[in-house]
Amino acid sequence: MLTWRRPVSFVNARIATGRGIVSSLRIGSRILAIDERPRAGDLVVDLNGACVLPGLINAHDHLELNHYGPLKRRDCYQNASAWIDDLRPELQRDGAIRKNSAYPLAARLFIGGLKNVLAGATTVAHHNPFYRELGRWFPVRVVNRYGWAHSFLLERQPVGAHGEPGGDVRERCLATPAGVPFIVHASEGTDDEAAGELRRLDTLGCLRSNTVVVHGVAWTPGDWARVVARGASLIWCPASNLFLFGRTTPVPEFLDSDTAAGSRICLGSDSRVTGARDLLDELRVAAAATPTDSNALLRMVTTAPAGILKLRDSGRIVVGGPADLLVVPPNDKGPAEALLATSRRDVLLVTIAGRPVVGSPALRPVFGARRTAMRSIAVDGVERLAESRLARAIARCPIAEPGVECLSS
Ligand SMILES: [Zn+2]
Repeated sequence: MLTWRRPVSFVNARIATGRGIVSSLRIGSRILAIDERPRAGDLVVDLNGACVLPGLINAHDHLELNHYGPLKRRDCYQNASAWIDDLRPELQRDGAIRKNSAYPLAARLFIGGLKNVLAGATTVAHHNPFYRELGRWFPVRVVNRYGWAHSFLLERQPVGAHGEPGGDVRERCLATPAGVPFIVHASEGTDDEAAGELRRLDTLGCLRSNTVVVHGVAWTPGDWARVVARGASLIWCPASNLFLFGRTTPVPEFLDSDTAAGSRICLGSDSRVTGARDLLDELRVAAAATPTDSNALLRMVTTAPAGILKLRDSGRIVVGGPADLLVVPPNDKGPAEALLATSRRDVLLVTIAGRPVVGSPALRPVFGARRTAMRSIAVDGVERLAESRLARAIARCPIAEPGVECLSS
């Protein structure tokens, strides 16, 4: 039996590369060629006009919190602090929350990884400690070079799965090397206190070129000008903001205000405690919340987070880069519009380092060419192939992911 992995040549596709849209792509574990003819020995796959995008980057998640479902006790808050105050007593009192907290951390994190990979997010930035469990096999790449603090609100309060504190914002920021992103929640709310957190960051010397602020809901265009002047960046989580506050960061105004904004703003799903089901749903929330064009949104889940999170190899299709890809159904308006029309059940293929992780049964030969054992799973009522390792982990996980089940054992 042959044991080597064959290169795969995708043809008749619409492939979003840094140099425009092309129709063919050769991959091994890395991108081998763009817009070149297949070579002898390749598996040639006709994608019938399907769109190929770089694997998405989800710039913000709390991977261990995605199985709780949405949690709040009021319709609308003015500041995340009031939401936290509402939930803190419930952590001990509410039976469902306690049950969800009692699952092994590895299982809780796995559900976060599964959420991301099924939505074509091949890289995710986790906000909280980089738990030991994330260093073992995991469904997606997790950013592992980052500094973080939770927020000014929870500097001394427990926020991690083992009760780790949120951390002193100034100390943690100044301890983060300039070449590593420092990620912190700030201005998560609509009141004066939330608005004042930007000035507080700046006064403490924490608004630097590697500072990445999550939320910024209360910011004005003037605040954004200050962020730009310091070279800092924003992770936008519109679904979470709308859920808690009924409004979100005025990102379109920021995008209009300066040409560099497109590279300084990226999108994150946040966890499902407040956010969308996954990054694909989050993109639709972002599109509905703003008149932002689809290419700007595509940048917010590819090249922008790659720059902001200092991920040299991610977020673009370039020769020599890892073959982290997302294939979605055809769309006359092009790959960015195709992405906005895609839900996780529509995803045709996700590859990480050229390894098919989940895909349509029609793309079974790709699993064969890449020597990846597979099993059938159902995703929201549609049959999909998953690499065996992922399917086994789904079957073994004590936490069920709604809409996902193994079809073969
Ligand atoms: Zn968050």
